[in-house]
Amino acid sequence: MNAQQIADGTWAHLWTPGGWGQTNTGLIVDDGAASMVIDTVWDTGRADAIASENRSLTRRSPVTDVVNTHSDGDHWWGNDTVPSDARIITSAASLHAMKEETPPSGVHLFASLGALAGRLPGPVGATGTYMDRVRGGATFPRTSPRLPNHTFDVTERIDVGTRAVQLRYLGPAHTAGDLIAHVPDVGVVFSGDLLFIGSTPILWHGPLSNWIDALDHLLALDAAVYVPGHGPLCGADEIRAVREYWTWVDDAGRRHFDAGVEYAYAARNMMQSRDFQPYQAWGSPERLVLTMSTLYRLWKGEPAAPPTLLRRARAFADAGALLRTMESR
Ligand SMILES: [Zn+2]
Repeated sequence: MNAQQIADGTWAHLWTPGGWGQTNTGLIVDDGAASMVIDTVWDTGRADAIASENRSLTRRSPVTDVVNTHSDGDHWWGNDTVPSDARIITSAASLHAMKEETPPSGVHLFASLGALAGRLPGPVGATGTYMDRVRGGATFPRTSPRLPNHTFDVTERIDVGTRAVQLRYLGPAHTAGDLIAHVPDVGVVFSGDLLFIGSTPILWHGPLSNWIDALDHLLALDAAVYVPGHGPLCGADEIRAVREYWTWVDDAGRRHFDAGVEYAYAARNMMQSRDFQPYQAWGSPERLVLTMSTLYRLWKGEPAAPPTLLRRARAFADAGALLRTMESR
């Protein structure tokens, strides 16, 4: 693995192809002054490798700030690998959500049981197999990682030496706390999971309209390069494709909801429609069923719910069952 320089004093650690847990991270350096790290990954081996590469890139410019783009563990469970005197920043909504997340040890136990249960037929086996797929062979930290110690509500400008980094909260959308980091001097935006490129985005929280607005905000920034949370570097065309996916899911999903079709069946039906063709090559297409469970909840007028382990497990059961029917077709 090598850090890829994407602009002057700006690096990305891209983890291809960008599936479950394969999170991209970033580094912004003002040479001779200071540096900022964007996101830390949950796999301990990968987190250590990134930290050691960052140490060699920041020898003259110590890491003063770390940003976590949101509360999913694959974006902050490596926080113990950044210098202990660095400030860790996230949105207030994201910090709140992090405190509600199941700690890595709990997810580890759950995923390990899932791996065993995966050998069973039926829904228990489907859930187990799917949870094991989500962990993707990662080794989680043994203890709960350091939480951020600095938050902001909507926007905050952080000075990394003489370079300005503009943080902006654009959630709730993918999760409660989604934020982006815009580096205007080089035209780079780190979008967190508001962008999945080449794999299917997941709506855990919503509302979906906020996500579409966030994509419009990303486009309006007119950056030279966008670093997605997962997948390769991208530009405006790829962002528009994500926007089209969400517009389609919103329309087609709502039609199924209004017709009283159960959400997992609706997801399967949508994936078999002609309109799905532009998105069928994206990784993990079955994530549509996770999104549909969130959308149905919101359309019923229920409040957005945090993606607790129980809720994720239920959604993973649906996704696992959907995959088994797709693979046996
Ligand atoms: Zn992620």
